[in-house]
Amino acid sequence: MSAAREANAPSGVDIAARIGTLEMVVSEIDTQMHHMMATIVSNAAGGSAEVESRSPMRDAVWACANCCARLGIYNEDKDQLRVRYKDFVAYINPGAGGSVMVPCRRCGEQNILTDTRPSK
Ligand SMILES: [Zn+2]
Repeated sequence: MSAAREANAPSGVDIAARIGTLEMVVSEIDTQMHHMMATIVSNAAGGSAEVESRSPMRDAVWACANCCARLGIYNEDKDQLRVRYKDFVAYINPGAGGSVMVPCRRCGEQNILTDTRPSK
């Protein structure tokens, strides 16, 4: 596979041999790709499992009822809904019995999040 050998090879001759070499190289690359993919997949699986066991995402995602676009993030610790758009963020604490209506930016669905917990 050296450049010198390529340059010295007479054109038209040894084509079968060169194709054979290429086939070997390709199959080797293919094998290595399979190894890499297997490694990536196992790493991804192991990684996500690790993350899940260490710390599940604390905040819940509020998704559009129609198209599943992300409308906001609910932080249970702070009892606070966070609605973000670009550099704009609104922090909402509706309180027991309150509700928030957020029209979906993607499909226009008027999503209403109602706090149904019994008031203390
Ligand atoms: Zn939507």
